[in-house]
Amino acid sequence: MPRTKKVGSAGRFGPRYGTKIRKLVVEVERKLKQDYKCPSCGAMKLRRAGSSIWQCRRCGAKFAGAAYTPTAGATTVEKTASKEGG
Ligand SMILES: [Zn+2]
Repeated sequence: MPRTKKVGSAGRFGPRYGTKIRKLVVEVERKLKQDYKCPSCGAMKLRRAGSSIWQCRRCGAKFAGAAYTPTAGATTVEKTASKEGG
C-alpha cells in the first residue's frame, strides 16, 4: 500500500501542511504540466519554461505570462471542472 494519500504529487509535503494547502498544490501543479495554446503558431505546445516564462515547443517562441498559467485570465480548467456530473 502506497504511503501517500489521494493528494497525489503533493503527498511529499507530509501531513503538517494540512489538506487545504496540499489540494492547492495539486491544482497548481496540474496547471503547470498542462499544455497551452501558443499565441504565435496556435499549437497546443506551450509549456512553462520557468517562473512566468512560457515557451512553445513547436515554434520556439517565448512568452512572459502569469506564474502558473500563460495568461492571467486562463480559466479553461475551472470551466471544465464545473461541468462534471451529468
Ligand atoms: Zn508556437
